[in-house]
Amino acid sequence: MKLSALLEATAARLRPVSGEDAAAEARELVSFALGRRVGFSNGEAELTEKGSEALEALIARRLAHEPLQYIIGEWDLMGLTFRVTEAVLIPRQDTETLVVEAERLIRTRGYRTLLDICTGSGCIGLALAVRTGADAALSDISEAALEVARSNAKLHGVRPRIVKSDLFSAFGGEKFDIITVNPPYIPTKVVGTLAREVQREPAIALDGGADGLAFYRRIRAEFENRLNPGGALVMEIGYDQGEAVPALFESCGTTRVLKDLGGNDRVVVVEPRGEMPNNTGETDADKA
Ligand code: GLN
Repeated sequence: MKLSALLEATAARLRPVSGEDAAAEARELVSFALGRRVGFSNGEAELTEKGSEALEALIARRLAHEPLQYIIGEWDLMGLTFRVTEAVLIPRQDTETLVVEAERLIRTRGYRTLLDICTGSGCIGLALAVRTGADAALSDISEAALEVARSNAKLHGVRPRIVKSDLFSAFGGEKFDIITVNPPYIPTKVVGTLAREVQREPAIALDGGADGLAFYRRIRAEFENRLNPGGALVMEIGYDQGEAVPALFESCGTTRVLKDLGGNDRVVVVEPRGEMPNNTGETDADKA
């Protein structure tokens, strides 16, 4: 069978669950089954009998609404590939807004130390460690998630501290220059209404309590003691939380809301009033 015909046939079968992503998802599944990346070509798809059985099984899983990312076991953020399992949230492109802003702050302020809580696959903290060389600590309450984060750290050749912790609980009096977090923020009642694929993701990574704000309240109560003077807290938020979350942090310092590429409110930055730590070796010119 020609590869192009196989891709088209696979896409047609996926369309009822994958919609407009069917062609892209077909390419991912066919690549996975063949064990090599395929593009569009008129070449023959060397599918052995075993290969075509494997592809059938992959298609069946996808048609049962298993997310593509769990089937192929990986997904990209910031151009880096991360291992994902059902123990962690799948990286979203929306989250790149958070990473880009945190990277900008790390570079312009000369931040050295980073804490990424609710790290899941580790994609946020690891992308920042890889891209900036920041001294990173990653934490999560889920041991199964930490395992995925550990394997991703290894994959990318970085050695962050990876710590089991309920938000800040395991960090004693330690302080950081920047804290990043993508907490669970979906209101409990909404979780059950989301796409079936999203409901395969861990509920503890999605469920933000009755109004979706439970974790922001806990973070507000604790983060100031975890941040060095001049530091910043960078949080992902739900598309409709661009007023509620800044309001919650209003008394803590300056707050800013950033939009994702889809034009939705997606990130809140909180900067408590205070001076930069003077141990970063940066000059005033670097601060600009
Ligand atoms: N952005 C995810 C979603 O819309 C939710 C992520 C989260 O709760 N942190 O499904």
